[in-house]
Amino acid sequence: EIFAPRKNAEGLPLWDNTTREPLIDDMRDVLQEGGFVAGPIVSGKLIARGEPYAITSPHDRQIEIGQCRNSDSDAVEAALDAAQAAAPDWDRRGGEERAAILEKAADLMEADRPAMMALLVREAGKTLENAQSDLREAVDHLRYAASQARENFGTPKRLPGPTGEENLLSLHRRGVFACISPWNFPLAIFSAQIGAALAAGNAVVAKPAEQTPLIAARAVRLIHEAGVPVDILHLLPGPGEVVGQALVKDARVNGVAFTGGTDTGIAINRDIAAREGPVVPLIAEMGGLNAMIVDSSALPEQVVDDVITSAFDSAGQRCSALRALFLQEEVADRILEMLTGAVRELSIGDPLDYSTDVGPVIDPQAKLALQAHKVRMRAEATEVLDLPLPDDLKSGTYVSPAIYEIGSLSELKAEVFGPILHVVRYPSDGLAAVCDQINASGFGLTLGLHSRVEQAAEYVAAHARVGNFYVNRNQIGAVVGAQPFGGEGLSGTGPKAGGPNYLERFATERVVTVNT
Ligand code: GLU
Repeated sequence: EIFAPRKNAEGLPLWDNTTREPLIDDMRDVLQEGGFVAGPIVSGKLIARGEPYAITSPHDRQIEIGQCRNSDSDAVEAALDAAQAAAPDWDRRGGEERAAILEKAADLMEADRPAMMALLVREAGKTLENAQSDLREAVDHLRYAASQARENFGTPKRLPGPTGEENLLSLHRRGVFACISPWNFPLAIFSAQIGAALAAGNAVVAKPAEQTPLIAARAVRLIHEAGVPVDILHLLPGPGEVVGQALVKDARVNGVAFTGGTDTGIAINRDIAAREGPVVPLIAEMGGLNAMIVDSSALPEQVVDDVITSAFDSAGQRCSALRALFLQEEVADRILEMLTGAVRELSIGDPLDYSTDVGPVIDPQAKLALQAHKVRMRAEATEVLDLPLPDDLKSGTYVSPAIYEIGSLSELKAEVFGPILHVVRYPSDGLAAVCDQINASGFGLTLGLHSRVEQAAEYVAAHARVGNFYVNRNQIGAVVGAQPFGGEGLSGTGPKAGGPNYLERFATERVVTVNT
């Protein structure tokens, strides 16, 4: 079935200031009121052991948004024990009941828009449009998981068999899922993982990114309020090397959903493989070295628009974002000139300001890594453009958009997670070689193509080993249910989030055969 009826998340017209200004006022009120706290939430209780530390804003490190405490080993123990004990009952409730609860959670999140968006802007540094997209994607993921639970975790499927025999196939929980989520979609990906694990009948121990625990804590409260039992969903903030590692190594954990960097994903895979006990799945979404190929038949204006969105939206902090733009030689100069003109028009600044196109990067570490990459590029590549940073942004972690020309994709050894685009020229007969370069990187997440030549799209679709291939459009912002998202190779294990095969990986299958 292609289309399962499902309510789409509401998107407000933020371009309309009669809608936007009251929303921003509400967001400011919520921030003014403050009181955001995160810490381990175990069986519904916020544990206040250990020293709290301040969560500050990427826009301005002087702005304290709230406080967080890390999970100690007692919190981890208590959460795992409670989750393990509660999982069977949650599974027995069936898909229909769980779906209704997840739909309620989606409604509560949508209704909490001012606080959710305020945290997405101030804790995660997202622009208003990006904050709204993150919230909408979270709501869509929860509703999608609900629709999948109804469809596949309700009544068992009757399979054909010989006369006198009944075969019923049903899906069940694996048990306890560890959901380890990133800061770049601190609500959407958090909700996608948790929504799927819960819909499939599992209990969840969620480890949010260190940078964004406040929104995670608020989301957990809403999911509990919707009816997910407090013993079924626990929040365990803390460093990946401590809390994340303790979870993936624990034999009470029956599966791991992880979204984040490739190195971490590989380390988790190793830890899971090395532990005692049953073999459990890892569902990993990792990095990318995403390319876009532009040939001489492409429409330059559209290319420029889509490159700007793909490379610089979210300050380049999406795993789907464009990193290497392959330009066919004949059109390279023209497109580069138009592109640099368009990049100069980008406004960098406070993400709460609607006119901002590019907000801050997540933290000082990210800023340092990106600055170091710029230094390397200045020495080893050709600088096409590096925008100056406005003076008033000094107390935030801002990195200006930049473009460098390199000789080949192999010069980028790892994902560059920020607003830095690399350009590679290729000859008119070089399409196959470009595909080979892309495949040779080992990453396989997104790929864009701008071409009016049908055979070019067919060739690339057949040869490039990527999870999401976009033709004549931008290559970010996969929509739940329409563009299931995820890659292969160094980019992830699949199945794709927001797709029809996602939930089943969180489940086990059982066939009951009765001789009637
Ligand atoms: N799903 C997002 C997109 O299509 C990217 C997710 C990520 O960055 O992890 O842009």
